Order: sequence, then C-alpha cells, then structure tokens
Amino acid sequence: MSGTAIDAPDHDHDHDHEVDEHAPQTLGDGAAPPSEFELTSRALQELLQEQGLLTADQVRRYMEALEDEYPQRGSQVVARAWVDPEFKRLLLEDGKAACAVMGIPVGSRLIAVENTPDEHNVIVCTLCSCYPRDLLGTPPTWYKSDNYRSRVVHEPRAVLQEFGTVIPDDVTVRVHDSNADMRYVVVPMRPAGTDGWSEEQLAAILSRDTLVGVALPSA
Ligand code: FE
Repeated sequence: MSGTAIDAPDHDHDHDHEVDEHAPQTLGDGAAPPSEFELTSRALQELLQEQGLLTADQVRRYMEALEDEYPQRGSQVVARAWVDPEFKRLLLEDGKAACAVMGIPVGSRLIAVENTPDEHNVIVCTLCSCYPRDLLGTPPTWYKSDNYRSRVVHEPRAVLQEFGTVIPDDVTVRVHDSNADMRYVVVPMRPAGTDGWSEEQLAAILSRDTLVGVALPSA
C-alpha cells in the first residue's frame, strides 16, 4: 500500500496545545516580539518566584537539563528497544511506562510509532510546537516553523526529501499530529551492519531527526 495517512483524530482543535508545557518560557526567539503565551508564562514564573514556589535556580537547572540531558534520552530509549524485544513491546504499548522503567519521567502520554518496511512515520504539531521534550529536549526551529507544520501534512514526501530523506513510493508515510496530551516519538528501523553493537553505539546513530522521522539512521 502506498500513500499518505494523517493520524490526527481530533485536530479540529478542540484540544489544548502546549498549555501544560512545564518549561518556563524565559527566553524569546530574539527575532520576534514575545508571544501572548510567552508573556503569560513569564508573568506566571514571576508570580511563582514571588510566592517562593519556584526559584530562578530551579528554572535555570531545568533549562540546562533541557539542553544537555534530555536530548540524549530519546536515543537511549530507542537503542534499548532495538536490543531488548520485551522493552520494545512495552514502549510500543505504553511509551510513558517504558520510559519510567529507564528512570525517565514523561509528563504526557507518549506514543511510540515504529517504522517498518511498509510504513514510515513523521511527527509534527500542526498548531504550535508540541514535541516530546522529555525525550528530545527543545524542538528545533524548523519544527516550529509554519513551513514544516503546514507542508509536512500535505506533502510529507517532498518535505522529507528536503531533509535528504527519500521514502520509496511503496512505503506509506504516516504523519502524526501531536498535542499537549499526546506526544509521539518515532522508532526507526535498526540499520543493517549494526549486529552486536552496544546500546551506547546504537544510541549514537539515533539523532533527534531520526526520532522525529525526518531522517533515517545509518550504520
Ligand atoms: Fe501543539
């Protein structure tokens, strides 16, 4: 079967996007004036700090973890799934529970979608920038761009090609639309030539882009 499938069961936007993001938005892009969300978030952060419920140090440490530690988690989780079939089964069944087994807390429902010879998966948030931050850290600029968000739904193959990823015509491309309650992560196919590799070696070829689905890992 070929074609494109959009997995967006309720994307007429009766659901929330990003409202429960636990990342305080302390910094703007620098390129645009702060959004209403950023202003609200800053005001909330100031209020929590005034009340003594949150310290600037906690915010700073969270932002650092988001940059340094979180982006490696997704690779570690998928590498584990590649070497441990039982873990992979759990990951596909209940992503949040699987991450908990590895000591990784995930704040929302996590749906792991597995690439197969017949199906390739890509994730997006068509409305804003919902992203599996607990596993991948801060979303890249392109993920939040209007261009990616609007086009990947309608012409995923063309968008993937721009990332240098060519999906054969006989492979279905499935696009998953994230929201605040539901985040996705792609489980790529393990490439040939990686037999006997350690989890650490495997994690090293699982870049962020491969877990979003815009790139494919190679040995
Ligand atoms: Fe969103």
